[in-house]
Amino acid sequence: MLGVIRSGGIERLVTYRLDRLSRNLRHFTTLFEELKDHDVELDVVTAPDTGAVALDTLMLNILASFSEFEQDFTASRIVESRASLKAHGRRIGGATPFGYFADPRTKQLVVCEEEAEVIVRLFTLADRGLPPSVIAKYANALRWITGGGNRWTARQVLAILTNHTYAGLVEHGNKLHEGCHQALVDRELYARVQDLTADRRTGPPRQRGGRATFPWVLRGILFCGNCGRPMGTHTVRFGPVVRCYYRCRSTAGGREACEGVMISAGEVEAAVLTEIGVGLSLASKEQTAKVKEALRSVTYDGTSGMLKLVRIEPADSPASV
Ligand SMILES: [Zn+2]
Repeated sequence: MLGVIRSGGIERLVTYRLDRLSRNLRHFTTLFEELKDHDVELDVVTAPDTGAVALDTLMLNILASFSEFEQDFTASRIVESRASLKAHGRRIGGATPFGYFADPRTKQLVVCEEEAEVIVRLFTLADRGLPPSVIAKYANALRWITGGGNRWTARQVLAILTNHTYAGLVEHGNKLHEGCHQALVDRELYARVQDLTADRRTGPPRQRGGRATFPWVLRGILFCGNCGRPMGTHTVRFGPVVRCYYRCRSTAGGREACEGVMISAGEVEAAVLTEIGVGLSLASKEQTAKVKEALRSVTYDGTSGMLKLVRIEPADSPASV
């Protein structure tokens, strides 16, 4: 299938469910990028009564965000512990933490690569300020392997995030020592996550930095081609990544909102601004002003993906009406 996609022989890929395509996040994001590069639409056909449609939509959004910082994930490599054979760092026994095997002979912890990757991802998400409950939801939606049980829970995620084993440490005599097992996350990352989880326990979450606001250049003049009603704004946040969309969610006139009429704000704005000759580097306030000057309305056809621009003609001034 990839061969056909690369040769340009496909316009649309139809899958019964997203997880039929791949259950592995990395394969998925790679495939997702590949589809985007070759302008192949991805169609997910799911029986509406399963309730899985919302999840698929959510997953597509998550994946779009994910593919942007998947690189970060792969960059956070599993760190080698410098501690080699410090006697007090040796493990005596006990339950084997998720992310490791216990060597049957020496009882020492050996990294399980597949699980270790999940540990790194959990810490990376926590480092971006996501609470354990949200991390658990994402992990479940993306079907990350679990350490026993079918689903991740907030409690499990928290237990992992606060387990010093992953930083390569062992407890001995009420003190932490350098362990002789391999750490899965570096000390700095581990320390940052401890601060974040401690903050969360002791009070309301700190506002981390100023919230970026998207300018919504087309607000008020973008209409849904399907029903003719104005399209609303919608943002999907994923850690530091914010995705902005315009979507038809109006129930004006007592009619149901249109299903699935949604378009990336950046995409549609770039298209419209280019079409009317407004520079993309211009400040958003000026862009908005120029758009209002030039256009009466923009209509987005969710089925064909086409935009219809209705221009304000120069002669069309209020005086001549
Ligand atoms: Zn509509």
